[in-house]
Amino acid sequence: MSLHTLKVSSQTNSILAARKKPYENRFKNFKNLTGIAMRATAIESIETIIVDLPTIRPHKLAMHTMQNQTLVIIRVRCADGFEGLGESTTIGGLAYGNESPESIKTNIDRHFAPLLLGQDASNINAAMLRLERSIRGNTFAKSGIETALLDAQGKRLGLPVSELLGGRVRDALPVAWTLASGDTAKDIAEAEQMLDLRRHRIFKLKIGAGEVNHDLAHVIAIKKALGDRASVRVDVNQAWDEAVALRACRILGSNGIDLIEQPISRNNRAGMARLNLMSPAPIMADESIECVEDAFNLAREGAASVFALKIAKNGGPRAVLRTAAIAEAAGIGLYGGTMLEGGLGTMASAHAFITLNKLAWDTELFGPLLLTEDVLGEPLIYRDFELHVPQTPGLGLNLDEERLAFFRRDKSSTVVHQV
Ligand SMILES: [Mg+2]
Repeated sequence: MSLHTLKVSSQTNSILAARKKPYENRFKNFKNLTGIAMRATAIESIETIIVDLPTIRPHKLAMHTMQNQTLVIIRVRCADGFEGLGESTTIGGLAYGNESPESIKTNIDRHFAPLLLGQDASNINAAMLRLERSIRGNTFAKSGIETALLDAQGKRLGLPVSELLGGRVRDALPVAWTLASGDTAKDIAEAEQMLDLRRHRIFKLKIGAGEVNHDLAHVIAIKKALGDRASVRVDVNQAWDEAVALRACRILGSNGIDLIEQPISRNNRAGMARLNLMSPAPIMADESIECVEDAFNLAREGAASVFALKIAKNGGPRAVLRTAAIAEAAGIGLYGGTMLEGGLGTMASAHAFITLNKLAWDTELFGPLLLTEDVLGEPLIYRDFELHVPQTPGLGLNLDEERLAFFRRDKSSTVVHQV
């Protein structure tokens, strides 16, 4: 760290923050004010902002009921004037995983930023490898950083993130909706409304928090009401033990439920493999995958027929494609998952997912639709049951600075930058 003394300031401006014209000095080295040679595409500052946003209704999951959603927005500024945006978002503080919004912010500010400042923003492999060498885990934080670097590079080259990832094979993705009020009649009414609006025809039910027979009756009643007009799936979020799961999976499968997500603990991989053999409906791994290596082990052990892909749990839009490659090689189906991110994280996922050859189980990229407010300049486009992915450079999104200022938790910025 001798080259880059760090300073955490309460101001967004930096002595190096003067914006330069696009492509100016892109391929040249230049000297900063301390006389140190650095690339024109050097990372100049990293800003992390915790944002608390209201949701349209309480969202009930087995381990947590969301009353609002907290996003961590990441802004990486580069010496050539390009700015990359990313998002690291989880569900329910520490209820879902090992990282909370607060730990993500602290770890990026204190541990990621010192490793990245002054590094070449245009070499994403080298930047992420540098993080991998020094930082274990923390895939949610890594995902937000990788997203921001991809966004900046896409803007720099005039290409959408999907094209940086090898190129899109579709422009839009079907999106599931989660019915999570816990009330059968309300959930059926909500599903009917979504069908009428042509917004969703895949519905996922969050179960596992209640008594199992009650949960099964709830799911079966919804499937009966919707019939062949919709695909109905369940997510148990690890809530059952193996014996309960075995009975429940048989009942669900024989009542037209298409997919059963993470019925038992992520730690019981042998149990997942047994369920996957016995269940009439396919078993999907979600919490079981906390890194790319988990995906390999699950595939080897036959512990799931479908993988939920989440950029946050693999370390970014590039990293998630490694898990997708393992699944494809093993003949495992793919589903585009979400951590209920806002627009930035959702679009980062979408850019990765539209590069996939097969996405047999479609996606659940509905996070922005659960929010009554977002911090984007323009909302994402959901139309005819699909999320449409822009062809503009980077993620194709901009922040609404006024909204960001209003919803940020700290009401002032923290930027880690070079001095
Ligand atoms: Mg899940």
